Amino acid sequence: MKGQYVCLVCGFNMIGHHPDNCPFCNAPKEKFITSAECSESFIVKSTPVTDNVTCLRSEPELGLEHSAYCVEAVGRSFWIDCPSSFTPGLGAPRSILFTHHHFLGASNLYREEDGAKVYIHRADSEHDIVKHHDFDTLFEGDFKAGGLEAYHINGHTPGFTFYIHGEVLFICDYLFQREDKLVYNPYGPKEKTEEGGRMIARIIKGRDITMVCGFNYFERYKTWRKKFDRLLAETV
Ligand SMILES: [Zn+2]
Ligand SMILES: [Zn+2]
Repeated sequence: MKGQYVCLVCGFNMIGHHPDNCPFCNAPKEKFITSAECSESFIVKSTPVTDNVTCLRSEPELGLEHSAYCVEAVGRSFWIDCPSSFTPGLGAPRSILFTHHHFLGASNLYREEDGAKVYIHRADSEHDIVKHHDFDTLFEGDFKAGGLEAYHINGHTPGFTFYIHGEVLFICDYLFQREDKLVYNPYGPKEKTEEGGRMIARIIKGRDITMVCGFNYFERYKTWRKKFDRLLAETV
């Protein structure tokens, strides 16, 4: 764990050294703690979402950290995205699959501890902020593996990929909840993000989905879908 730092504002993990400001949120270095200090102050907590999906988040809250999710599938488990804090002995799954490159968390430490294989879209592996993170598989396009379906849609980031497992949709921060509405993530190219939204709608059409897992919420699909339909209608 030597030489790893965590930004308390956004949860970004800096591997090897830290610059004066957080590469992700620009917070000053006074807001950084070492990864070891982070493991002492924060613990990854699991909250059940469905029978085989749990939400993983640091407790107490670690800045802007995005929720990760653990899926217990037949014969294997995997994470979608990764917590910012490292809890030793948590038992990382065989695979960590990223939606995009913004919140890679402490994936390198889980990889070192348990040999978890880390997956990200190739287009999101080339960004400067992830150059110190290790990836095992750089995928391109859609794929299916072990009951998981991955769909590359671009938009918010060039490699943004959402996932479906069983009746659960994993959408991370492609959409933000704003009171009773959904809006597109504003940090990215607007037109491409909207086009990606239409792709999501085409892919999930007619699918039996009951739950949506986002970066700071999980919600019944029926409720989420009404808001998503309104957004689609507004951004034709
Ligand atoms: Zn930060
Ligand atoms: Zn993002």
